Amino acid sequence: MIQIDLTGQVAVVTGGSSGIGLATAELFLRAGASVAICGRDGERLAQAETALNTQFPHAQLLARTCDVLNADEVAAFAQAVHTRFGRTDMLINNAGQGRVSTFADTSDDAWREELDLKYFSVIRPTRAFLPMLRDAAGAGKNAAVVCVNSLLALQPEPHMVATSSARAGVLSLIKSLAVELAPQRIRVNSILIGIVESGQWRRRYAKEAQPGQSWEDWTAELARKKNIPLGRFGRPEEAAQALFYLATTLSSYTTSSHIDVSGGVARHV
Ligand code: NDP
Repeated sequence: MIQIDLTGQVAVVTGGSSGIGLATAELFLRAGASVAICGRDGERLAQAETALNTQFPHAQLLARTCDVLNADEVAAFAQAVHTRFGRTDMLINNAGQGRVSTFADTSDDAWREELDLKYFSVIRPTRAFLPMLRDAAGAGKNAAVVCVNSLLALQPEPHMVATSSARAGVLSLIKSLAVELAPQRIRVNSILIGIVESGQWRRRYAKEAQPGQSWEDWTAELARKKNIPLGRFGRPEEAAQALFYLATTLSSYTTSSHIDVSGGVARHV
């Protein structure tokens, strides 16, 4: 991988206590950036903080509980980042989870909840961190927002009707945001992921696997059923690398764009 030194820069990763977010925090720390992560569950967050501090003993790391759907908590998280680091250069909007439900079994409340999560997990952190991103861009530094989105945005699945629909809307939101922020020299991009091994899939494995079925067998069977051309789930670090590319000057002439990290599942030309 191309080496890039991010010493002195600050990356904020929402949902950084598990899966893709945790792998992304690792990658930024490895490149020398200061990193702030958040999540709702204090215990999971503390475990992630300990793991990162063990792996990177000199890490400049801030971990704070925050629900990205709570405007006050997001504002407090941004304030904590400002107090600790004084800046934000890169914001990774990653926090969230998918909802498995068909049209027939999705209630109005479930629709609202899903739309709320998908939109406001991007809107609230972006709004809260924008002043710091503007300062970074105004000082001539790289400033970027990268969102974790799903291939469902372009290739909806009926068994995830609300998530697919919300993902498409969020892709549109990201593109508008990119154009609005481009004159301020803040780039906005996203990744579209297929299936990536993570906490959410570990939880589904615990619920759905046959007794005695190993994680490897369960994921291989699912990869076959879902016709993933590369024949396996993605790994969190593979999503993290795409996020890293879009967040840093490696992609300095790219905005309003997305990278497919789906193992070849995308069928459109
Ligand atoms: P994980 O469950 O491993 O990680 C999700 C992270 O987000 C955790 O740190 C979790 O912590 C945090 N989180 C969830 N909801 C909130 C919230 N409201 N406020 C703050 N933090 C929150 O899953 P993934 O790594 O897979 O998920 C990362 C992103 O990728 C999500 O947005 C997910 O929807 C998306 N995605 C993942 C796919 C996959 O196959 N893995 C497929 C398509 C999209 P806590 O629960 O403690 O809050």
